[in-house]
Amino acid sequence: MSKRDYYEVIGVSKSASQEEIKKAYRKVAMQYHPDRNPGDKAAEEKFKEAAEAYEILSDTDKRAQYDRFGHAGISGNGRGFGGGMNMEDIFSQFGDVFGDDLFGSFFGGGRSTRGSQRARGARGSNLRVKLKLNYEEIARGVTKNIKVKKYVSCATCNGSGARDKGSVQTCVTCQGSGQVRKVQNTFLGQMQTVTTCPTCNGEGTTITAKCGSCKGEGRVYAEETITIEVPAGVQAGMQLNVSGKGNAGERGGMAGDLIVLIEEETHKELHREGLNVAYDLHISFTDAVFGTSLEVPTIDGRAKIKVPPGTQSGKIFRLKGKGFPNVHSSYDRGDQLIQVNVWTPQQLTDEEKSALEQLADSPNLKPQPEKTEKGFFEKIKDLFS
Ligand SMILES: [Zn+2]
Ligand SMILES: [Zn+2]
Repeated sequence: MSKRDYYEVIGVSKSASQEEIKKAYRKVAMQYHPDRNPGDKAAEEKFKEAAEAYEILSDTDKRAQYDRFGHAGISGNGRGFGGGMNMEDIFSQFGDVFGDDLFGSFFGGGRSTRGSQRARGARGSNLRVKLKLNYEEIARGVTKNIKVKKYVSCATCNGSGARDKGSVQTCVTCQGSGQVRKVQNTFLGQMQTVTTCPTCNGEGTTITAKCGSCKGEGRVYAEETITIEVPAGVQAGMQLNVSGKGNAGERGGMAGDLIVLIEEETHKELHREGLNVAYDLHISFTDAVFGTSLEVPTIDGRAKIKVPPGTQSGKIFRLKGKGFPNVHSSYDRGDQLIQVNVWTPQQLTDEEKSALEQLADSPNLKPQPEKTEKGFFEKIKDLFS
């Protein structure tokens, strides 16, 4: 593949001054910087291409050679620039191009911890638990205390991992900054590399004597009781995020989160349909004929309902506002839908049989569906639409 013209890569004319080249390169390098384009291979290639171009054009001798012979002049000089630069080389240029102070601020400081921040150990991982709730708890909201096994901050050393205060020392390699800079003199000039301090792993401190309880980790595995406030109206499959209640981090590092997965206990008589609650009511033939008052279960305790005389099997009564609250809006509540099932007797004595037989031919006992307001399926459609 043929190489692009270095001036074109950086976006300057052939007569550009060193200052103009530097300025133009800054712009291109920032645009394609891997921190701003995570995972973008094309951007990374452009980033490398620009670094290579800058390395040549910022050097007066190399630039002159490139101007006369093009890419051929460069690759013949013994160092073989054609292979491209690695990322370490590129970042090491930045001290010169951007100036030291700008290094962190341009790229969000993500590459290293700066001295002003207190260096800390690795963040703890998230912890997942399942929490099963019954309908009553879901209807009102509930405070639950659950026991979990997890990493907690070591009480002996207060999470530091050290035996005592005197055993924590500022890292001698990095003087507490958590990063090391290497300055190398090369024929291209001074090159600076900034990397995480290998002695303290970026924490800025080292421990001379470890805490006996946690073996220097700053955390121990233990059981802890965690209080979880569950809002009213949650549903199976929802997740509650309790920030900072997951595993403790190492040596004072941030704790992970506790993620609570909601599950629902099935109810003996009630069945959840989103915000609504469905209930199957079974009544006798005579109650359906004469009407009756009775109690039904709801998620708020028992409620009285009236079954009017002449109630058909399949009739649905609605208890307004007796459903589940909407977890997103406290004013919104579902209903309880009560479906009537008229019980057909299956075992009868001879007297009962003969009493019923006397009525069998009565015209009032013949079904007259055209007289009922609506068919069962139409009613269901109305209720759930
Ligand atoms: Zn400890
Ligand atoms: Zn260090």
